[in-house]
Amino acid sequence: MISFLDLKKINEPYENAFQQKLKSVLENGWYILGKEVEIFEKAFAQYCQTKYCIGVGNGLDALTLIFKAYIQLGKLQKGDEVIVPANTFIASIFAIVQADLIPVLVEPKLETYNINPDLIKEKITSKTKAILAVHLYGQLAEMDQINEIALQHNLIVVEDAAQSHGAKNNKFENLNSAAAYSFYPGKNLGCLGDGGAVVTNDQELSKVIHSLRNYGSEKKYYNEFQGVNSRLDELQAGFLNLKLPNLDTDNEKRRTIAKRYLDEIKNNKIVLPFWDYSNNHVFHLFVIRTENREALQQYLAQHNIQTVIHYPIPPHKQKAFDSEFSGWNNTSFPITEKIHNEVLSLPISPVLTNDEVGFIIEILNQY
Ligand SMILES: *Cc1c(COP(=O)(O)O)cnc(C)c1O
Repeated sequence: MISFLDLKKINEPYENAFQQKLKSVLENGWYILGKEVEIFEKAFAQYCQTKYCIGVGNGLDALTLIFKAYIQLGKLQKGDEVIVPANTFIASIFAIVQADLIPVLVEPKLETYNINPDLIKEKITSKTKAILAVHLYGQLAEMDQINEIALQHNLIVVEDAAQSHGAKNNKFENLNSAAAYSFYPGKNLGCLGDGGAVVTNDQELSKVIHSLRNYGSEKKYYNEFQGVNSRLDELQAGFLNLKLPNLDTDNEKRRTIAKRYLDEIKNNKIVLPFWDYSNNHVFHLFVIRTENREALQQYLAQHNIQTVIHYPIPPHKQKAFDSEFSGWNNTSFPITEKIHNEVLSLPISPVLTNDEVGFIIEILNQY
């Protein structure tokens, strides 16, 4: 059986180092907001080429705290509209809602699965104050166009980078904005539990998020804001400190597999993902499209190849939004719905072997 993502195998090489790390944290006797978190925050800021990094409890909180911090700073207000792709993992939308802001959905491009910048303009109203760009499946959204629109309309740009650790283009993209990361075990950089981080160059913003994650407090028992409890813990930070140095190598392995899939899968029932072969894609997922998805998924399962659907139901059709946002469930986003009906994610990870990749390609070409 070729599993979709073999997390045990991904973490196996670190077993000894993880155990030593556990021992050292135990010996220190300090478990929350200590040395390991500080080291990780420095290292990850440097890795992202940003001035600040704040470790938090998970990716959803990373996003939510960015919006809440902008509200504290008076740069956003409750009820402001935030543009967000209609096809994303639900956390992107929940973060906006949980900060008392209004999500406004915009269709993606069918080819890249990322938000279509041309369609953003149509949705901008006097209440629009921010864009949440999602780098879906590991591929950067079209940030040049998005930043230009934001500049024209005086909008804040926030990046959901939970699937795109290490994706780069030549430009410095986080200027005057913030990006949210998740270190959920299955992400390109994953810990052994929940974890997340915000990176930014905005000192004011970083200070507020730093405080918000810890009860709105910088000095113990003095609470400046109504914050939350969302801290990256020492153990997870310690594990991430061991894994971060290998992130670029791991991403390169993912790209090598993606390149083989793109070069060697030849079947007109299968639409392969778009990639310009640059480092702007880290292939968190390798997502193909096919009209009869169920048949293909079953066929692959019969040949012991596990696949996953990211995601079967688009956010606007979720029961969670049943009565909200003027009947989202009844609105229509045809490209988003097509994507959600047709996508299938093939196995891809740094530990997938050449032979396994070859077998998957062979089976797909015989379909
Ligand atoms: C995983 C993910 C999140 C949320 O991260 P958690 O750590 O699970 O809270 C947010 N956005 C996207 C696009 C994700 O894939």
